[in-house]
Amino acid sequence: MGGLHAKRKAITIWFGNTRIVLRENNRIVRMDNAKLRLAHPVRVVKGDWMVPTEFLTSVLPTLLNQPVRYRVADRQVLIGNVHPNTFSVAASAVPHGTELTFRFTQPIQLQTAARNGKWVIFLGSHPVESTQSAFRFANSYVPEARFDDQDGIPKLILTPSSVGLDFFPSLTGGGRVLVALVKQPPPSPASRPQPTGNVARPLAATGQSAATLPQAATAVPPIIASPTLPVVVLDAGHGGTDDGARGENGLLEKNLTAELVARVRVALLASGKYKVVLTRVGDVNLSSNQRDVIANLAHPLAFISFHAGNMGLAIPRINVYSYAPSSPPDPNLMGAESPLFVPWNQVQLAYAAESQQLALDLQQQLEATTHEAGSKPWQVPVRVLRSVAAPAVAIEVGSLAPDTNPTPLTNPTFQNQIAIGVVMALAAFQAGAS
Ligand SMILES: [Zn+2]
Repeated sequence: MGGLHAKRKAITIWFGNTRIVLRENNRIVRMDNAKLRLAHPVRVVKGDWMVPTEFLTSVLPTLLNQPVRYRVADRQVLIGNVHPNTFSVAASAVPHGTELTFRFTQPIQLQTAARNGKWVIFLGSHPVESTQSAFRFANSYVPEARFDDQDGIPKLILTPSSVGLDFFPSLTGGGRVLVALVKQPPPSPASRPQPTGNVARPLAATGQSAATLPQAATAVPPIIASPTLPVVVLDAGHGGTDDGARGENGLLEKNLTAELVARVRVALLASGKYKVVLTRVGDVNLSSNQRDVIANLAHPLAFISFHAGNMGLAIPRINVYSYAPSSPPDPNLMGAESPLFVPWNQVQLAYAAESQQLALDLQQQLEATTHEAGSKPWQVPVRVLRSVAAPAVAIEVGSLAPDTNPTPLTNPTFQNQIAIGVVMALAAFQAGAS
């Protein structure tokens, strides 16, 4: 994004090399020479230019060179080639109970837990999309099932109508069909006392699904929909035609960074404390500006970019960077024209102190978890950090060089140590900030 130029009835926005022109009360968006017609006109309210939400799905995909979908129901913007798992629901009556059948388009991983009188069915780490957030059933056992993925972990929450019902979840159809059987327990000869307090009875599994239900109630961290979880943006460096550095055995930096991001993402989600947004999904080209736009849309707690470059022969080695401009910014230019606008190339400057703190926390925690001696965090003009409106750092592991065997960098133990180090560093960062 190169800048923004407002006239009385029109505004011109530069986004990389693409020029966008919007006009007040006009549905036409001009992008370079192309015209795009919105269903609703652009408005100006008290000097602020406002575009209809369809702008996200019509204009943004072209700018980001990635598919963008806007889910109206929960106001989520999905960027990138995410193919979410979808499902259909059916309920059928069985003697003294009901059977709910959820048919997914892709296999799920099943874990269940009982909380506050409800049964929670965790569906694994792959995104799941639901057409509605609540499903109602005409039976006297489970009147409602809710779908929730606000914390980044998709799950179904079943509310039983009364205390003491038995719940038998099972997974069939190659992991695509989830059957939740809910039954009145058989009457016992002696009047057996109904359990109180612990309303939802955890978890009897049936037949083949037993193996997929390990210590369910303890295996999952105690998280139920907390819409206020902070977002961490993970950026896998390079991608598409940009391979980045290359190791002795042909290992490419772009693939190693994607691997690291995948591990860190899982660790962050498993902590139950964060939502995760990825900039690059798949092997695609993405400019620094595009990465920064994705980050800024998410209003994150932190932005972490991953790289693996040629840092000399020692391996493995870790450096953490925060942003410093190549030349000091001219104080006369900073926000001088309007306090509402910060020049795109100076966005990160306001977060310098926080970014340096985050870099320090990461350096310390990564040294502790990987047992690799590192240097102090560096402040360098890392381009991808320049326009991030949040604490932002880059982590570089190395060396990935043509004369170095990169095997230690692909070692799952090393990569998991990095993932755990990131989780611990974010905790330390948040503790220091509060
Ligand atoms: Zn790199």
